Amino acid sequence: MKPRMKTPIKKKDVLMRQRKRFCRFCADKQKVIDYKDAKLLEALIKERGKIVSSRFSGNCARHQRRVAEAIKQARFISLIPYTRV
Ligand SMILES: [Zn+2]
Repeated sequence: MKPRMKTPIKKKDVLMRQRKRFCRFCADKQKVIDYKDAKLLEALIKERGKIVSSRFSGNCARHQRRVAEAIKQARFISLIPYTRV
């Protein structure tokens, strides 16, 4: 008997099923995106130093833009690295 091919699980399906995403900055107005806040920005970059996409972090477009901008500023003054080996 031939083994039947399973329908492949798409990456998107897995991401969607995990949990309901929300923008952490919209949810908590106290949280301010500041380029000097290395601890906050550290949570929004990947291990290698890349900026985590909004699809992953759940940030809304407006806050994702602010985050990206802040990360770039922080990189420039070397609070966070451009890349990690
Ligand atoms: Zn937001």
